[in-house]
Amino acid sequence: MEYSNSPLVVYTAFSPNHSGLRNHAIDRITPHCVVGQCSVEVLGNIFLPEERQASSNYGIGPDGRVALYVEEKNRSWCSSSPKNDHRAVTIECASDTTEPYAMNETVFSTLVTLCADICRRNGKSKLLWIPDKEAALSYRQREDEMLLTVHRWFANKSCPGTWLYNRLGALAWQVTDRLRRK
Ligand SMILES: [Zn+2]
Repeated sequence: MEYSNSPLVVYTAFSPNHSGLRNHAIDRITPHCVVGQCSVEVLGNIFLPEERQASSNYGIGPDGRVALYVEEKNRSWCSSSPKNDHRAVTIECASDTTEPYAMNETVFSTLVTLCADICRRNGKSKLLWIPDKEAALSYRQREDEMLLTVHRWFANKSCPGTWLYNRLGALAWQVTDRLRRK
């Protein structure tokens, strides 16, 4: 599968914080909470210094604009798990600064659109959410299935926040529904 980047991107600021090419095809999406209602420009500046050692493939600002920081073909430094990030597209979503790290409806609806686009371009027709960590990480995906994973499985943090965590089933359903329509 040829790697590509989302046509939804309206702002690009490449971060030096990545490992170069992935060692695994894309079959996961990992949405994160920014812990701040930051614009895509501000988030791009956060990922710019090398000493920060952090990045994501995409960012979604509070206004629903989508940014590219690390090309999809490359492994971002986002989820505290090299194994996950080699196969996942990572997306930082603007959120509140405290639990439940709520996101606004524009961010959530853009996340649905971006996930559907990522699935389509990477040959997937279904987005799966399996809330149990062990069950999810040991699940044998079919060729056309994309799996949602969360940062809290790999590090002692709330990310993607309780607000989005509780909506991951809805996210998976809405994305799969959209993939079915077209
Ligand atoms: Zn995270």
